[in-house]
Amino acid sequence: MKYVNLAGEQVPALGMGTWNIGDSRASRAEEIRSLQRGLDLEMRLIDTAEMYGEGASEILVGEAIAGRRDEVFLVSKVYPHNATRRGTIAACERSLARLRTDRLDLYLLHWRGNVPFEDTIAGFEELQRAGKIRHWGVSNLNLADMEELCATPGGERVATNQVLYNLTRRGIEWDLLRWCVARGVPIMAYSPIEQARLVRDQRLVALARRVGVSPAQLALAWLLAKDGVIAIPKAGRVAHVEENHGALACLLDREIHAELDALFPPPRGPQPLAML
Ligand code: NAP
Repeated sequence: MKYVNLAGEQVPALGMGTWNIGDSRASRAEEIRSLQRGLDLEMRLIDTAEMYGEGASEILVGEAIAGRRDEVFLVSKVYPHNATRRGTIAACERSLARLRTDRLDLYLLHWRGNVPFEDTIAGFEELQRAGKIRHWGVSNLNLADMEELCATPGGERVATNQVLYNLTRRGIEWDLLRWCVARGVPIMAYSPIEQARLVRDQRLVALARRVGVSPAQLALAWLLAKDGVIAIPKAGRVAHVEENHGALACLLDREIHAELDALFPPPRGPQPLAML
């Protein structure tokens, strides 16, 4: 496993997402096995949110990690409309109950809403004092938002910004990525295989075939080669988890990076932050 420094702690650079996991009875057992297989493979970071299936994803994660809580770096997120001081605390307590645990390792503001940062930070800090969360961070914040957050008292303790980042969504490379990495704030790259659209991209399929890896592995290996980036692919099938884990062994040389840059060019100017 490769590790990334997050608030002074070494966390896996390859974790697991859970959006749409827990939504269907038919796939439930395989989804639980997938998360457990990922833990066996040291993909010990699990990302979920109160939003996913309105709690169904957290319930499934709770089942998957039962008896293995200490192995996991557990991440969940608060809805912006819940992110007042008291609302953040109440939402976290509901998440903890669904996850059947007493603490989160990282709690994120899912995206910026109308609640002032001061109030959300006050909620996060109270949760930290109570031992219910260890670190806090944000998601879907652009550079201007990050600057405002960091100028807010306590805001400089933000542990991560989780944003859309993959070969087809490179806009953050213009400014946000560098800004965060320079401040020691890792980026969590969500939808790292563009919700499976990248595995069907014929340009990537052809290059992956030449390299001798799968398209998902190539897309993930490209992210894993970057400093301060944590990738959280979602896979509801054991075979996909195992394949994604294989990305750790794909070391891409300079020529492959150049070919990827030619196929999926970096930004040539500032771009609005992309979101899903
Ligand atoms: P993703 O991880 O890019 O793609 C997930 C899709 O790819 C699933 O359909 C999955 O299928 C498929 N897949 C996974 N591994 C594969 C492989 N090796 N070969 C072929 N297909 C594969 O998209 P995502 O779920 O949107 O993003 C990942 C996580 O980021 C989410 O689950 C969530 O935790 C987080 N996220 C956060 C935000 C935010 O606003 N903060 C937004 C979006 C996502 P199977 O499930 O069938 O294996």
